[in-house]
Amino acid sequence: MDTNTTTSGLTFDIQLSDRRRTPSEREALLENPGFGQVFTDHMVTIRYTEGKGWHDARLEPYGPLSLDPATASLHYAQEIFEGLKAYRHPDGSLATFRPEANAARFNRSAARMAMPDLPEELFLASIGLLLEHDGAWVPDKPDFSLYLRPFMIATDVGLGVNSPSRSYLYLLIASPVGSYFSGGVKPVTVWLSKDYTRAAPGGTGAAKFAGNYAASFLAQAQAVEQGCDQVVWLDAREHRWVEEMGGMNLWFVFGSGEDARLRTPALTGTLLPGITRESLLSLAPELGLEAEEGPLSVEEWREAVESGEMTEVFACGTAAVITPVGRVKSHDGEFRIGDGAPGPVTMRLREELVGLQTGHRADKHGWITRF
Ligand SMILES: *Cc1c(COP(=O)(O)O)cnc(C)c1O
Repeated sequence: MDTNTTTSGLTFDIQLSDRRRTPSEREALLENPGFGQVFTDHMVTIRYTEGKGWHDARLEPYGPLSLDPATASLHYAQEIFEGLKAYRHPDGSLATFRPEANAARFNRSAARMAMPDLPEELFLASIGLLLEHDGAWVPDKPDFSLYLRPFMIATDVGLGVNSPSRSYLYLLIASPVGSYFSGGVKPVTVWLSKDYTRAAPGGTGAAKFAGNYAASFLAQAQAVEQGCDQVVWLDAREHRWVEEMGGMNLWFVFGSGEDARLRTPALTGTLLPGITRESLLSLAPELGLEAEEGPLSVEEWREAVESGEMTEVFACGTAAVITPVGRVKSHDGEFRIGDGAPGPVTMRLREELVGLQTGHRADKHGWITRF
């Protein structure tokens, strides 16, 4: 057994898998990994107990967990997660995009779910350690990356529902991925969900909390039933103000060419504060595109598209980066955005962002962390 000590004094026990895939097995799996289907050889685990804090940190073989059936997270969904990617840069180094922003958001999600804070340094150390051992799983093909999934579950055993768990397990697993939506950059058709709500004021919408996603599947299934790819969430009070698309933030482009302006719904507390969204708020003005945060109603959406004032719509998030929206459907009918094809502003921003993440653009913002 080998060890690896962090600056916070926590030592990782290193237990290497004796079932590591051979280079040729790995290459075969990297050929067409899909999204979140294939996992690397190891995972990181760190335990937390009230009074004792974080302890028992390990790198161990990827594999099933053994949990008592009365484990709190299985009953009351005290579970949070993050999602970020590691890229192979042209010089062969491994890089992540704004991982400290994921660490900070993880702790904001934890606070909302009455879970303990994980020191940012431990979050980053877990990523460094997994990449140190499983770095060969970071693909070097365009549009491919290693998706990192840090998460935390409540591990107290017992069915009492009156208080948060006093013990937790943090885990980090990793999955090589290709394009999130098969077929690459293809505009999606969205369904405006007036029957279901993702998040309500005072609720959990701003947290990357497992229950939010469980509650979204029925609306997503309805969107598919209506011939759409994705659901668009509206506000809970009026079902009128556009919030998000599935698990991505939305952007609206008004005008075109030199005069193009962008708007994304403001973070009202019911939206998930996307790191991609925040990055675009900085990047767009640097490309000469005005970008603002503000409300957009479903009526304004339709009217602005019909008048030609709104020229493009796209969604953004770590998994799919930037995805154009081509058509909008609801119980009240449907409309097409522009000619339904990916627009120039959408593609320009996508190229810029992907260029930064993959090391083909200079990192002026200090957003890249190499491991
Ligand atoms: C994760 C997520 C996003 C996008 O966040 P990024 O940090 O950009 O990946 C947007 N909406 C929801 C609901 C999410 O879960």
